[in-house]
Amino acid sequence: MSRLITRQEIAEAAEGAYTMARVDNGGHNAHYIPYLANVPSDLFALTVTLPDGEVFSFGDDAYLFGIESVSKVATAILAMKQWSPEMVLRKIGADATGLPFSSIFSILLENDHPSTPLVNAGAISTCSMVKPLGNPVGKWKAIVDNMVSLFGSEPSLIDELYRSESDTNYNNRSMTWLLKKHDRLYDDPMMSLDLYTRQCSLGVTCRQLSAMAATIANGGVNPLTGERAFPEEISPKIISMMASVGFYQHTGDWMFSSGLPAKTGVGGGIVGVLPGLLGIAAFSPRLDQAGNSVRAQAAIKQFMQTLGLGIYNSTQVELA
Ligand code: GLU
Repeated sequence: MSRLITRQEIAEAAEGAYTMARVDNGGHNAHYIPYLANVPSDLFALTVTLPDGEVFSFGDDAYLFGIESVSKVATAILAMKQWSPEMVLRKIGADATGLPFSSIFSILLENDHPSTPLVNAGAISTCSMVKPLGNPVGKWKAIVDNMVSLFGSEPSLIDELYRSESDTNYNNRSMTWLLKKHDRLYDDPMMSLDLYTRQCSLGVTCRQLSAMAATIANGGVNPLTGERAFPEEISPKIISMMASVGFYQHTGDWMFSSGLPAKTGVGGGIVGVLPGLLGIAAFSPRLDQAGNSVRAQAAIKQFMQTLGLGIYNSTQVELA
């Protein structure tokens, strides 16, 4: 079974979802990273990007905010590109943890296995895998260049966020040494942690994240630049990781209610991928208890429901 939806339906659903979620004042900014606590809480943006490059965007879509854990998606793609999806599975894993993003238990419970590049432990491990090994300058360039190909434009480091996060990341430091103890780091531990912290501190716009989501939905070709960012075989792999752990311990609830493989960050960003159809991103700083943006979740769920979309639906939806 299949059905068609029009661009106008998508644009109207996005605008309706943005308008509905804008009045939701629930949640609080992330408080454990001082910079994030001070970002204006009322900011809000929603952007949908289609595989042919058409963009529907609303609100504060040019505001540079901390990418935080959404960066894990980009660097997981890079590791799969540089090694292979199978090597990432072997060295890190692709399992749900069912635990908070910063959980040390996830390392212990998974039999010394970081379990997935999309939680902190696995993301630090992923940064350790990035080539050229032993070369922090070259590794950072590879991480940023990969993001440029996914976004179609440059992210920019928010120095104050980087300092703020580096000064307070005690939990991530302890996880790094635990990973080292279990032979799950493939490069220098503190260098790997620093790369992870720096990538989380990159400033991005909602439009850029939506372009990354659309690139994944489009099998690796960036719809804005027309260039291939990664081989097509990586798309289903990264989408499966997003669907299994993108919302940490609330991923099951999220998939049940939205039907959209997505990844959140404590900077307030969420990216979602509907394979073959569209990429969506939303940003708003106030988070729920699990660290997921309240308005971004509400807007994306509303968008999906209005259009009757969802990856588990039996009816295939195509663009008219
Ligand atoms: N940089 C944050 C941390 O490591 C990212 C957490 C998140 O966005 O979920 O705590």
